[in-house]
Amino acid sequence: MGSKASRAESPASPGAIFALIRGGAATTRREVARATGLAPSTASLRVEELIDAGWVSERTDGSMAGRPARRLAVNRDRGIASSISLGANHMSVDIADATGASIATRSIPYSAVDGPASALDFGCAQLAEIISESGSTAALLGVTLGLPTPIDATTGTATASIQAPGWDRLDILGELRSRVGGYALVENDANLLAVAALDTVPVPNPHLIAVKAGSRIGSGFVSGGVLHRGASGAGGEFSHTPTGAASVIACSCGNSGCLESVASGAAVVARLRALGADVTTVDEIVTLAGHGDAVIIELVRTAGSLVGEVLAQAVNFVNPHAVILGGAMSSIPDFVASVRAVLFQHCLPVVSSVLSIREIEDGSTAEGRGGIRLLLDAILSPDAIDADLTASRTAITHP
Ligand SMILES: [Zn+2]
Repeated sequence: MGSKASRAESPASPGAIFALIRGGAATTRREVARATGLAPSTASLRVEELIDAGWVSERTDGSMAGRPARRLAVNRDRGIASSISLGANHMSVDIADATGASIATRSIPYSAVDGPASALDFGCAQLAEIISESGSTAALLGVTLGLPTPIDATTGTATASIQAPGWDRLDILGELRSRVGGYALVENDANLLAVAALDTVPVPNPHLIAVKAGSRIGSGFVSGGVLHRGASGAGGEFSHTPTGAASVIACSCGNSGCLESVASGAAVVARLRALGADVTTVDEIVTLAGHGDAVIIELVRTAGSLVGEVLAQAVNFVNPHAVILGGAMSSIPDFVASVRAVLFQHCLPVVSSVLSIREIEDGSTAEGRGGIRLLLDAILSPDAIDADLTASRTAITHP
């Protein structure tokens, strides 16, 4: 760990210079020299090393008056970052360039009950197809897989769960690498939502809680701009908090009365079916709520209030800048309004005065954006860039 850490801490390694360029802190060779304290000739040599390896591009900026400046930026054509996110009924597949800008996205119905191998085959085939259709010839840098269950980030293993049956017995990272190549990551879906929400909070390094309220409920927590996974991957997850209400669906944790089993989309579906309604999916709930169905609106409001009551405990404890709501239930205005009303009722003024509560923008692609951001942060870290350059130098010296 020692030698790796010291290399990353060097403010002037090529990887550290790449971080300055990627973060926008240095956009010319002169700014790189100024920011690092390197002699201009040395700074130029390191920048050229990054350009030769394809990580940085340098283009003449014609928009400036006077002598045109040559601007440094991440080379968007260096490779494709991708994300496959699995929900209960839908899979989303997203690709982006090396700057994180979206190239294409698609959402496809699928069934989790077919098991992991089938989901991986299908998802990777969809990924190959979406890349082919984009016309890009850039190499695939890697993939993030989003799953609706806690993930141990140190081992890349999934927790046993009825939402993601069979994934706990799988070498997920090995399976991903063997299918698509490149770097592989696996992350909880609500954590991906939390990462995607980071840029929407107008505060540097924000504290935020993201809630995915779909057919099930999941949540993720970012503290000071950093995803908080806890000791075994379940950090920030409050969907199994007891509510005192009676469960209407079985919960993966085996307990009764927890939030997910009384206030999730699947719980609302179960309540409606008990009333004799012929509904089976959360998408139907969203459509019927949109038509102003009074019974459904009432059930959705009750679910929102229950979520708000449990969420208020977390919000009072954490004092976040924002609560970001995602998932199909959060597209129903009455659900969001109920969550907001209960939160403001139960939170201390010092907490609610800085709190913003809203639905995530472009919710259908949010997990994909989070997956791509996590992947690029790993592949483009100073350490990873330095290691890549060292490997290329070694390959040149010892062909
Ligand atoms: Zn539970």
